[in-house]
Amino acid sequence: MIRTRFAPSPTGYLHIGGVRTALYSWLHAKKLGGEFTLRIEDTDLERSTEESVNAILEGMSWLGLDYDQGPIYQTHRFERYNEVIQDLFKKNLAYYCYATPEELDIMREAQKAAGEKPRYDGRYRDFTGEPPAGVNPVVRFKNPIDGVVVIDDLVKGQVTVANKELDDLVLARSDGTPTYNLTVVVDDWDMGMTQVIRGDDHLNNTPRQINLYKAIGAEVPVFAHIPMVLGEDGSRLSKRHGAVSVLQYKEEGFLPEALLNYLVRLGWSHGDQEIFTIDEMIEYFDLNNVNSSPSTFDHTKLTWVNEQHIKVASPEHLARYVAPFIAQLGCDLSQGPELVDVTHLLRDRAKTLIEMAAGAVYFYQDFEVFEAGAAKKHLRPVTEEALRMLLEKFEGLTDWKTESIHAAIDATAETLELGMGKVGMPLRVAVTGGGQSPAIDATAELIGKPRCIARINLALDYIQTRKAAQ
Ligand code: GLU
Repeated sequence: MIRTRFAPSPTGYLHIGGVRTALYSWLHAKKLGGEFTLRIEDTDLERSTEESVNAILEGMSWLGLDYDQGPIYQTHRFERYNEVIQDLFKKNLAYYCYATPEELDIMREAQKAAGEKPRYDGRYRDFTGEPPAGVNPVVRFKNPIDGVVVIDDLVKGQVTVANKELDDLVLARSDGTPTYNLTVVVDDWDMGMTQVIRGDDHLNNTPRQINLYKAIGAEVPVFAHIPMVLGEDGSRLSKRHGAVSVLQYKEEGFLPEALLNYLVRLGWSHGDQEIFTIDEMIEYFDLNNVNSSPSTFDHTKLTWVNEQHIKVASPEHLARYVAPFIAQLGCDLSQGPELVDVTHLLRDRAKTLIEMAAGAVYFYQDFEVFEAGAAKKHLRPVTEEALRMLLEKFEGLTDWKTESIHAAIDATAETLELGMGKVGMPLRVAVTGGGQSPAIDATAELIGKPRCIARINLALDYIQTRKAAQ
């Protein structure tokens, strides 16, 4: 059974680079009928926050990245980690290190001054003397001194590191809490992970972790280290490049499947296909095709991908996601029209759900003023006659439907010998307040007869005022 996991540390927001790693792990498991686990790596008690845990859970849920196991909290497993540490002590593969942080700083400074790479020098590895008083020791792992560690990474290829380059990992802090490098190995073993897919910022931990797997008698999983996501200036994507928290993309009106689509393509491709449904991602994704070099986050392209997803999304799906944005604008949806009918009309014209919501307001809310530019251009004394004729025809309509509205516009244009635009545009500005809307007949149907009549009257008043000012 294939088993993968996403193992974020809850020390901040859920970063979209992390989400891409989660997505690749999720896709790999889904594709191969395996299991996906969410594990919260919260052993760093100082930096972990509940707020961050909630952001992770909310982000995963919004994205639809469901998990078969979890969330598993490492803080619930301290007993197990201690058991492993005790076992390592018994095998003489762990030791207490009493070096104080100040002492280690001095050691590193001396190494730097001598032109060496700063690393723990193993000073307590074979210590048998009397421990210094008043120091709470850390526990360190006895990393092998000779030989090499070979990683056959699915993305990076073969990476070989000499053991003499690796210092002795801290397994437990001086307060007794276990460290990431220990807990990740114990958990990936206990939880039967077959593939460890994670950011390549962890690649330098991997050889030490492999030594630890061997020391505790665990099978080493297959690793896939995914390159970082960069900002447009080539540095690692961070807040100063704009939004990096996944929930911020939710707030900015992106569809979850569009964000996933954008992220899957960031570092992986399937021919030149750009737009993928979730099912297509699962079908085509292949860990072996992930790029080994970093990718650059491109907000414009993400927005384009979002637009493409909005165009083909079902009106019901769009209604569900756009409703909170429309509510935020103060609209009351309970009096109609049906939001699905509105999203059906608007889905061809919005890049984000925020844009879609803004375009939906006139279906639910009356306005007192027209958009200045559109009114100036289309609500003129010469358009009065067309609007009056439309008003009369509309008042007489017994079935307020796109077809009958269309016929009334047609008939007006014909009688007055005007082009369709000379009738349609004034009508559009009158009933929507601005110069942009979907087809005016279908739009008017949804706005409803009473509102359209009232708004045409408002437009006629506007024209009167304009005439009086001439
Ligand atoms: N908890 C680690 C992090 O958030 C990830 C560990 C892993 O995937 O191995 O960076």
